[in-house]
Amino acid sequence: MSQDPWDKLEGELKLWAGDGAPATFWWRDDDAAQPTPPLTQLTQLAQDYEIPLALAIIPAQTGTELQHQLRGVSFVTAVQHGHAHLNHAGPDEKKCEFPVSRSADLLRQDLADGQRIMANFDNRLSLFVPPWNRLDERHLPLLVELGFTGISQFGAATSHEPQPGLRQLNTHVDVIAWKTTRGFVGQRRALNAICDHLVQRRLGQIRSDEPTGLLTHHLVHDQETWTFMSRLFHFSKNCSTMKWLSAGEALPGEALQRVTNAARHKVSQE
Ligand SMILES: [Zn+2]
Repeated sequence: MSQDPWDKLEGELKLWAGDGAPATFWWRDDDAAQPTPPLTQLTQLAQDYEIPLALAIIPAQTGTELQHQLRGVSFVTAVQHGHAHLNHAGPDEKKCEFPVSRSADLLRQDLADGQRIMANFDNRLSLFVPPWNRLDERHLPLLVELGFTGISQFGAATSHEPQPGLRQLNTHVDVIAWKTTRGFVGQRRALNAICDHLVQRRLGQIRSDEPTGLLTHHLVHDQETWTFMSRLFHFSKNCSTMKWLSAGEALPGEALQRVTNAARHKVSQE
């Protein structure tokens, strides 16, 4: 009989405890736009378990309602999720809002529009989350030019700084089975993905200081997904080796470009 996946996670974390370093995690949820019951459920979960949440917001689809809902909510960090979440890839290409075929001018306009909208959110980090986790790397210099501190995609980061001035903070564990049921991947698969990333970090196969990133999409969660998240967060509350970081804390390197209210006003005056 195969090992219970929760026991496997516990066993791996015991090895981390022996090494004396916390197993760091961070959490990103995508596709926020408007206040909805699933979004309320999501933020309630974050609050109940005191887990910092990076909420990837689609600028062209959001507005004052979400700004108001998140006002003063310190455990949620707003990050920019593309511009309109539109697919501009060719018919034979994977979905992408910013393929290389789009001109730099169009891209600059979309990204800057998005930044202006995102500047209205209280607790914001200039971390760019491209829709479908894809952005042609030839566009990376533009992100730096526009003042983004980091980029967040999916999978082990190939570099902590893929472009000078731009840090990479990826997610590694997707709880949704997009290619099949579009429901929960199942706790064994989710926990295996967590364990696999932790093992690679511990053994030095990838950088050990890259936090393990949980990726969720509140609008499509079924009950099983919500149950798993509660169980994972409950488990982590009882495990001193697991440490959840905010996106700002998880971003590699030192300077974190957190836009304060003062800076926000400055942006809006420009
Ligand atoms: Zn998305």
